[in-house]
Amino acid sequence: MTITTEETRRWLVNFSKRIEEEKQYLSNLDQAIGDGDHGSNMARGVKAVEEAIDDDSLEKPSEVMKKAAMAMISKVGGASGPLYGSAFLEMSKSVDEKDLDEVVEAGLNAIKKRGQAKLKDKTMVDMWEPVVESLKNDTLTKASIQEAMEATKPLKAKKGRASYLNERSIGHLDPGAVSSGYLFMALIEEVES
Ligand code: ADP
Ligand code: MG
Ligand code: MG
Repeated sequence: MTITTEETRRWLVNFSKRIEEEKQYLSNLDQAIGDGDHGSNMARGVKAVEEAIDDDSLEKPSEVMKKAAMAMISKVGGASGPLYGSAFLEMSKSVDEKDLDEVVEAGLNAIKKRGQAKLKDKTMVDMWEPVVESLKNDTLTKASIQEAMEATKPLKAKKGRASYLNERSIGHLDPGAVSSGYLFMALIEEVES
């Protein structure tokens, strides 16, 4: 099933609320294996997303996703901005016609292309990839999202700032996988229900 313009908007607004609530936690996670700014980066981005999509002239899901992409790309300086931005931009190209699993898969592919990370490199790919699988099998739940977050803990980072730590990145959740988990929890709440 495709999603409606209103569902797309509610999904992104709900994501924004969650990021705002978890901003400190996300920055704390990034403090452990990065530079401590993931929460503030994401909060700045999603605030801009909310403003950009609060626009009655946007008539299609693709128009909403594209605005969201542009907001993330222009407002987030860190690695996460262009990655979320590329994902949303690629998703905007199929969201009007395709089923959600294919739309999210297009986002995953954009992230992989942009960041060159593979599964188990301890990045947001470790959330997006299992979520695509779950969407295809119709098994996406908050518990499966939680599990994917936890699964990043034992991994050694191979990409991004956390990779500078080598072995010392082991034992911590990946901040971008956690924020991406919030994106999909927001999806479950606004679209799947
Ligand atoms: P920065 O590292 O520039 O401070 P953020 O802290 O906002 O940016 O985002 C860090 C997150 O970005 C990481 O936790 C990881 O999930 C994600 N990330 C970093 N590099 C990559 C990459 N090459 N591919 C996929 N995700 C990445
Ligand atoms: Mg950071
Ligand atoms: Mg940074």
